[in-house]
Amino acid sequence: MGRKIIDRFTNLPVSRQRKYQLRMKARKRCIICGEPVVRASYCLYHMVKYRELARARVNAQRRNYGARSYQIEMALRSRKRSARRAARPATHSNGAQVRAISPRSAIKRAA
Ligand SMILES: [Zn+2]
Repeated sequence: MGRKIIDRFTNLPVSRQRKYQLRMKARKRCIICGEPVVRASYCLYHMVKYRELARARVNAQRRNYGARSYQIEMALRSRKRSARRAARPATHSNGAQVRAISPRSAIKRAA
């Protein structure tokens, strides 16, 4: 067993698990896995997990897409997508590389 942690939570009349949760929360870590939090007390993964648990509990039919967890999920997804796009050069459907053209020659081509 490791050394006993002495801090402001040590003598609280709560369980060992609850102390862990309070310590994690005070350090802005997910109270389940210890990853950095995205909101109050959960990382994104556990935020989504908790949301889906809550939805299942009330047998939800609709989704509240304005909710924070959806917003963060969508923001992360679009960031990942644009990073992927930036990483590889644009290609035509036959695999040939797209050559950058100046706006003026693009106008000439269209005419
Ligand atoms: Zn977590």
